[in-house]
Amino acid sequence: MVWFVAVWVLMSYFLQTARTPDRLELSYTDFLSHLEEDRVAEITIREDRITGTFRDPVSPEPESEVETPAEPREHTRFVTVIPSFGDPDLLGSLREKGVTVRAESSASPWYVALLVSFLPWVLLIGIFVYMSRKARERMGGMMGGQNPFSFGKSKARLYERSESKTTFEDVAGLANAKRELTEVVEFLKEPKRFRSLGAELPNGILLVGPPGTGKTLMARAVAGEAGVPFLSISGSEFIEMFVGVGASRVRDMFQKAKKEAPSIVFIDEVDSIGRVRGTGLGGGHDEREQTLNQILAEMDGFEPHESVVVLAATNRPDVLDPALIRPGRFDRRVAVEMPQRDARREILEIHTRGVPLAEGVDLDALAARTVGFSGADLKNLANEASLLAARKKKEVVDAEDFAEAVDKIRMGVEREDLLNEEERRIVAYHEAGHALVARLLPGTDPVEKVTIVPRGRSLGLTEQVPEEDRHNLKRSYLQNRLAVLLGGRVAELLVFEELTSGAENDLENATELARRMICRWGMSEKLGAVSYRQGEHHPFLGRELAQAKDFSEHTARLIDEEVHRTVQEMEDKAEDLLRSQRDKLDLLARALLEQESLSRDELDRLLGEGG
Ligand code: ADP
Ligand code: MG
Ligand code: ZN
Repeated sequence: MVWFVAVWVLMSYFLQTARTPDRLELSYTDFLSHLEEDRVAEITIREDRITGTFRDPVSPEPESEVETPAEPREHTRFVTVIPSFGDPDLLGSLREKGVTVRAESSASPWYVALLVSFLPWVLLIGIFVYMSRKARERMGGMMGGQNPFSFGKSKARLYERSESKTTFEDVAGLANAKRELTEVVEFLKEPKRFRSLGAELPNGILLVGPPGTGKTLMARAVAGEAGVPFLSISGSEFIEMFVGVGASRVRDMFQKAKKEAPSIVFIDEVDSIGRVRGTGLGGGHDEREQTLNQILAEMDGFEPHESVVVLAATNRPDVLDPALIRPGRFDRRVAVEMPQRDARREILEIHTRGVPLAEGVDLDALAARTVGFSGADLKNLANEASLLAARKKKEVVDAEDFAEAVDKIRMGVEREDLLNEEERRIVAYHEAGHALVARLLPGTDPVEKVTIVPRGRSLGLTEQVPEEDRHNLKRSYLQNRLAVLLGGRVAELLVFEELTSGAENDLENATELARRMICRWGMSEKLGAVSYRQGEHHPFLGRELAQAKDFSEHTARLIDEEVHRTVQEMEDKAEDLLRSQRDKLDLLARALLEQESLSRDELDRLLGEGG
């Protein structure tokens, strides 16, 4: 506010000097002649400027005939400039004519000088404060009064007691995690009661689970349930340009948390700072290490009376530095699992709370269809369905919208580019091959949908939905799965006696599956019950390079042979099936070419229950 007033004062000063009406500008000669003729009453000299008043109003002599002002005005005041070499005679003649002479110091008034020198700074600071406040608003920070100059200060958002309104109600499923965290909630609510019984709380709890399963949500819910402040920061935010900033930020956040205790500190994506140290890859090591060390130091430095619980979340517990998961630090793990069918239904219920649903929407059936969807996927599903309904200007969201949303999320957006007739025929037989093998083999997951509408990267899709979520996979089930995966390629080969590139993904999946069966699950007689682990896909190279395969070249060759044999066997099986049921394959392919998509019921009608 201060700078605003300053601007106003300065402006009025300038305006006053610059725009003085009714003041005649005289040349020095004219001024002298006015003086000679005794028309000047008084003057004020300031540096080389003379301003003054006439004894009687004077009208200016027209300079040229053309530019005569419409209304020649009379002037009582004038202004002129003394030549730079001065006029030594001036004072004498002034005195002679009895003109009152006033002289002003050339220095501007003190307040103007002050303003002129400070104004740019005041303005700059004003703009800076304004912008940083804007930025903070945008970040949704609740910190209040944070100094824009403190780069190292924690960016953590502090949620007021009332601010984290998330509760366990908002988290579907995850019964185990809730049970474990309820203890923490109780403790945070009444730390004194627990302490008096000698109970100690683990300082660090690590939420472990795949992306989108609700880890962040869970941490919020713990804070909401306990009604304590929640300071959160994402690990990736620590990785800053300036070395040392991450560490000082950690220090600040913990300090704040201790001040607010009981409270919760939440470090999201902790793996991005807590990765195993010293792998020599990935860059930014010093910074990460300092940040990590600071976290460790803070966690070790808790006094017994400080009820600060540190929650951290990661989807890569395997890459965490051992120092981070040592006793006294994040020694407690809470698994946040992918939602099972019931949980998926509940998640859908939560995220369709405010959505007007049509009669036919069966969330349970939808939950069954969405095997492998995480909580975040399901939330997205509900949102996509609403968007689709809105786009079609419907009043309610119906089953069709949900079905379309599932396809969209699973396979991407429908593609516009149309396939030519031959390509369509190939895709139709390919998908018919998958579907038919799936229906003919016992113990496979029922086929929910077959389609030859191209979407995303795939030209068609056969969707199988397990009746139950499977936790333990039988060998026979996996072998059949291989046969189904290869069914598409086999059908193409059978009908067109030609191979296409369309089976790339199928082959990749089949090979990966066969390799797992052999190397991890001991499902090959030749290799026996030995686990042959190879470096896994680590997004952060470091670990993988250090961990070479721990078996001999001889074994490596055996594995390759076994993988090949397993895949080959199942391909033969699929081929036998399709060859013997060629009529059904043709039937299916024709139906697909006509209808593009076939549902489970339509398949039943077409092939009969057993086919
Ligand atoms: P993560 O941190 O595990 O990657 P998030 O907590 O960010 O996942 O989850 C993303 C979103 O998905 C959440 O905002 C929430 O709306 C939804 N979600 C995930 N899991 C659940 C769940 N179990 N119950 C309700 N909503 C969930
Ligand atoms: Mg998260
Ligand atoms: Zn395929």
